[in-house]
Amino acid sequence: MADGQISPRKAINLADYTPPVFLVDEVALDFTLDPAATIVRATLNLRRQAPGPLALDGRDLELLSIKLNGEALGGNRYVLTESSLTLDDVPDVFTLETEVKIIPETNTELSGLYMSGTGFFTQCEPEGFRKITFFPDRPDVMARYKVTLRADQSKYPVLLSNGNNTASGAAGTQIWATWEDPHPKPSYLFALVAADLVAVKDSFTTASGREVALGIWVAAGDETRCGHAMYALKNAMKWDEDTFGLEYDLDIFNIAAVSDFNAGAMENKGLNIFNTAYVLASPATATDADFQGVERVIAHEYFHNWTGDRVTCRDWFQLSLKEGLTVFRDQEYMADQFSAAVKRISDVRSLRATQFRDDAGPLAHPVRPASYLEINNFYTTTIYEKGAEVVRMYRTLIGREAFRKGMDIYIAENDNSAATVEDFFAAMQAATAIDLKQIMRWYEQAGTPEVSFDESHDPAAQTYTLTLRQHTAPTPGQPVKQPFMIPVAMGLLDATGRDIHTETLILAQPEQSFTFHNISEPPTPSLFRNFSAPVKLQGQSRQRLAFLAAKDTDLFNRWDAMQQYATLVLLDAVKAHQAGQAFALDAGLLEAVTATLRDAARDPAFAAEALLLPAETLLADAMSIVDPDAIRFVREAARKALGETLREDFFAAYAQFAAVAASDVSGHAIASRALKNAALGYLSAAGDTTLAGAQFLSGENMTDTLAALVNVAELADERRDDAFASFYDQWRANALVLDKWFSVQARAGAPDTLARVQALTKHKDFDLRNPNRVRALIGAFAANPSKFHEASGAGYQLLADTIFTLDETNPQIAARLTTAMGSWRRYDTARQSLMKAQLERILAKEKLSPNTYEMASKALA
Ligand code: ZN
Repeated sequence: MADGQISPRKAINLADYTPPVFLVDEVALDFTLDPAATIVRATLNLRRQAPGPLALDGRDLELLSIKLNGEALGGNRYVLTESSLTLDDVPDVFTLETEVKIIPETNTELSGLYMSGTGFFTQCEPEGFRKITFFPDRPDVMARYKVTLRADQSKYPVLLSNGNNTASGAAGTQIWATWEDPHPKPSYLFALVAADLVAVKDSFTTASGREVALGIWVAAGDETRCGHAMYALKNAMKWDEDTFGLEYDLDIFNIAAVSDFNAGAMENKGLNIFNTAYVLASPATATDADFQGVERVIAHEYFHNWTGDRVTCRDWFQLSLKEGLTVFRDQEYMADQFSAAVKRISDVRSLRATQFRDDAGPLAHPVRPASYLEINNFYTTTIYEKGAEVVRMYRTLIGREAFRKGMDIYIAENDNSAATVEDFFAAMQAATAIDLKQIMRWYEQAGTPEVSFDESHDPAAQTYTLTLRQHTAPTPGQPVKQPFMIPVAMGLLDATGRDIHTETLILAQPEQSFTFHNISEPPTPSLFRNFSAPVKLQGQSRQRLAFLAAKDTDLFNRWDAMQQYATLVLLDAVKAHQAGQAFALDAGLLEAVTATLRDAARDPAFAAEALLLPAETLLADAMSIVDPDAIRFVREAARKALGETLREDFFAAYAQFAAVAASDVSGHAIASRALKNAALGYLSAAGDTTLAGAQFLSGENMTDTLAALVNVAELADERRDDAFASFYDQWRANALVLDKWFSVQARAGAPDTLARVQALTKHKDFDLRNPNRVRALIGAFAANPSKFHEASGAGYQLLADTIFTLDETNPQIAARLTTAMGSWRRYDTARQSLMKAQLERILAKEKLSPNTYEMASKALA
């Protein structure tokens, strides 16, 4: 830390948890909404639980008045600080009334009550409610809310909050509405919307016959792009009834879309607030991936109604209790819509690209961290996606039936309360005879276990013995790891590829041997089928991988074997390139790609995944000193060589899968386009750019247009410039499509990408206040390995400059961008010192937010 600078915030520790001193049974809120001066009157019914003063959280609030049991309090009765209001001398049961002024129009953090587009919106998770009123802003204080909103009718005709609309009216130019939520909830689930919006309406009848009014609220003109979100909502409601027996519990379910939002969406009780990116979709404006994103996030937030809202978290260390479980639920939902194997493949692809990378670096943390400075920094792939893997391991270990029983117990035992990871564990343990104790280590220890194996076959005894070993490298603060409880779903294949044995082994020791009987020939083991644990399996020979890629009965492992095989040969090619040798295409890789392509019609969605080479970041993770230029060179050389060698096949595939209607977003159409555009990528890499150019011009479907544009973006000439100019002219008024225009340029491999991104930061449509736009340009650029890590360090400088400015207005997003430099130690010394210098420059900034401070200081530690 720089001289004289103090840590902006003290660490919060799980071990220090104490129950709240006061509970709030009821709260009445009255908002008089004005962008420059909103008045919030709060009436809290408080009840003592433990000895001590009443301490309420509050930030950026101007206290106008305060009354205890109706009596106005003088300044000698309370202590006000930057972040709290404390009353020492209070009874055990009483009513506290406060009146505060807040300024939504200057709230650029997008946490609390803020302005966006045509109105007022809130974001209270995790600690935004304290920017609205004085309150014990912690999730284990659950209250019933009654909310009255008052606003100018002409500007903010729509007034929404949680629960049911119990009264409304008008008074002069003002309108008002009262909303009451019968379910007790933590403050982070409070929400209000006051804006000029229109609704797309529908209804859903629950299994027990409750009629639920559904509304999706968007800016006028956007109604035509809500169909998929509404379909997904109803489908998710039905799925949760069928799969988990969980029904919706209010008469109204509203979703409001907002274009300035720090995350994807928010599960506020009865009033989800969504980033427009996860609501609006039409085939002309959204890609197939966007459609799937909408469906996934709609399902995710809806599923939170039970796993998050009805059963909430005791404290923020338990965040994965709701997020890991809800991600698991949305993964299962999506797997049931299309292909379970393809869904698993794409989830694992991204887990490895993001979570595995984080788990190997200075920002690694357990699924349940023990300590944090700023909880906003812990909305990570570890909490979300690795957390979902832990839930999945429970199910793999105890089986589907017991898991469902465990879920029933979990909900029944914890309904309307604030639970912990131990409560989830206890419910699952109650549903099975298998001793699950050791699974808790997945919540406590960071890092990705590495699993290796030895095998021996005894022809005389007809036994085959598999010895598995686990090892987990140290992570910050955890030098020594205890063994994990690892479910190993596996099969033994005979020489023809038939399964002769399948089983789920449990690896719980550092080393364990398993002997199989009646095995006459040496079999080929297929381990971690369907990715049964978030580990790295090591030591598979190329020959084995080639065999499994061709023969495994487990589709996931077939894909994985091919990926691992491709990773090995590409890493070899990187070494050869570094040694000055010319690129040579591996015959086995060519053979595997050829076989996949010729067999594509059987399962085009799977084939499209299998045709993608491992990402540059994945190759980087496997190198001791990352060489981003060599990685990019080799990966592109492989794509080019495959495209050239298989030109006829790729052309044939392109033609074969081209015949789907632009408006068709069925699973079949999505798979066809994925395959066609995978072929387009190889053909473009091989120099056949006319096809991409033609597809760009003929596009009426955003998936196809964008896939074409991605390839045209690689041409550093006027064909590219014309394409981006015409795309801009067509879509400049559509913010979500314009985001794509920014991000395709930021992701391009063309030599001038860095200069173009620098210029785009000055573009009139670039806006640091809009998180989607920042992610589209800066986030995408920081995820473009060879450009971001350009040897001059100019990429780092660009990122740090952005963080510097952004930290003043939106520290949450600034801190998130900082993580892109977290892996600095993995690079050569020149890049190391360039990244380190930028991190140090950020840390030395005056008035640096605790958010960015935590990420930059941990990255350097
Ligand atoms: Zn969530």
